[in-house]
Amino acid sequence: EEIDICREVGEIIEYYQPVAEDKGINISCLNNATLYADRTLFRRAVSNLISNSLHYTEAGGSVSISTRQAPNRSIEVTVRDTGCGISKADLPNITDRFYRVDSTRHMNKEGTGLGLAIVKSIMDLHGGSIKVESEPGRGTSITLLFPRADITNLSS
Ligand code: ATP
Ligand code: MG
Repeated sequence: EEIDICREVGEIIEYYQPVAEDKGINISCLNNATLYADRTLFRRAVSNLISNSLHYTEAGGSVSISTRQAPNRSIEVTVRDTGCGISKADLPNITDRFYRVDSTRHMNKEGTGLGLAIVKSIMDLHGGSIKVESEPGRGTSITLLFPRADITNLSS
């Protein structure tokens, strides 16, 4: 399924706009790529990242989404925030099922710790990967790397 990222991400952002506005967080998006992926799973993955960024960013912060086609023609979708960040010690574990960072529990009491595990399974299914960069107290940037369209192979 060929995905118009501009449209998909635009719709997801529209959905989260009221949440961001309520919290006084600026949410923005820059887009310039098309992608071959399962539309429902793509939306789930990007939504989970945006939802995390909104949860783990204090009022007045910002969340930005950007997509680009890398030189090797793989597609990168990045969700960046100015939130609490993730310590080096926790980074290797955050995509594990039920893993939650102690210091962030109070910010998102209702979490189950499954959000990023689901994102990881979705990326595995697409033959892609996740890259997480974070600096405690400054923010987090999570990139979904989808392989170039002609080698994407959805195992179903
Ligand atoms: P849920 O299953 O409802 O998504 P969750 O948000 O706790 O619960 P994950 O989305 O898997 O679970 O995230 C795992 C943990 O990683 C979170 O509990 C949080 O501590 C940390 N984390 C994830 N995204 C961010 C972010 N953008 N900024 C800071 N910490 C984050
Ligand atoms: Mg989550």
